[in-house]
Amino acid sequence: KKNPLPKPKWMKESIPGGQKYTQIKKKLRELKLHTVCEEAKCPNLGECWSGGETGTATATIMILGDTCTRGCRFCNVKTSKTPPPPDPNEPSNVAEAIASWGLDYVVITSVDRDDLPDQGSGHFAETVQKLKTLKPSMLIEALVPDFRGDSSCVEKVATSGLDVLAHNIETVEELQRAVRDHRANFKQSLDVLMMAKDYAPAGTLTKTSVMLGCGETPDQVVRTMEKVRAAGVDVMTFGQYMRPSKRHMPSTTYKQMIFWPTSHINLVTSTLGSFGRSQVLYLETDQGSGKGTAVSSLGFRYVASGPMVRSSYKAGEFYIKSMIE
Ligand code: SF4
Ligand code: SF4
Repeated sequence: KKNPLPKPKWMKESIPGGQKYTQIKKKLRELKLHTVCEEAKCPNLGECWSGGETGTATATIMILGDTCTRGCRFCNVKTSKTPPPPDPNEPSNVAEAIASWGLDYVVITSVDRDDLPDQGSGHFAETVQKLKTLKPSMLIEALVPDFRGDSSCVEKVATSGLDVLAHNIETVEELQRAVRDHRANFKQSLDVLMMAKDYAPAGTLTKTSVMLGCGETPDQVVRTMEKVRAAGVDVMTFGQYMRPSKRHMPSTTYKQMIFWPTSHINLVTSTLGSFGRSQVLYLETDQGSGKGTAVSSLGFRYVASGPMVRSSYKAGEFYIKSMIE
């Protein structure tokens, strides 16, 4: 059935442009790199690749193939129990390509590889190490699977020389079973984020992301934020869940969003550009006024939120800004 409501104005994407964007786009063609930004037709491409106010261009690269061993209800990635083995030359090739690309901040991510003995963690670590050797100034974020909570996998990646270790909890604690693959859960994901903080050198940031519009309530969002912060996570992002097809989990409708999560989204959106630790806002339950409350005790380094926000949204620009403050 067609959604009776037109797409709200705030769901419209921005048009790519700018000098840095053009350079990055041109160079990419020569490198045979596959970016999530292009392949997922991400609406933020213009903003991320142009580097924003700090000129810190961000892009997301996928390693370890395009076939996932899991099947989350919101995700459009191909799945198989036995994906093709990873290319052993990929870490070197990808590192060389990224280093020569003109990017300032790269997010390296992957599908889940439950089929591999190290779940792909060695591949991640090698890619980061090679890239840091080739281009030490490059800021690197690894957005990793939960590695089924295996501490040796987390340790390998956390000590590889990266700047940010991200792992997405995807949704509030209460909706984990309904949204994610049965092998994933809230506690395991929080454990991964805590282990990452423990193993990584001081100053390394941890980060997680939540999709809104899966049926969560604002109270659940706030409780989840508090638990995430208590796990030492530095950065949190929120975006609207968009149903990829009818086979996928439905999103709460735009109508519901307008009356419920939207005001929430808008509220947190207002924190974009506010990086002070005391300026993080969260939703107050008063939907009518849409007013938020400053929660200094949460103490995230920054929160990025808005309908189009993905966990890698303007990650480089925000990283730099949050370091300055
Ligand atoms: Fe690429 Fe992520 Fe930015 Fe989208 S949000 S353009 S996937 S870096
Ligand atoms: Fe998609 Fe990640 Fe879930 Fe795999 S683990 S189905 S890539 S969200």
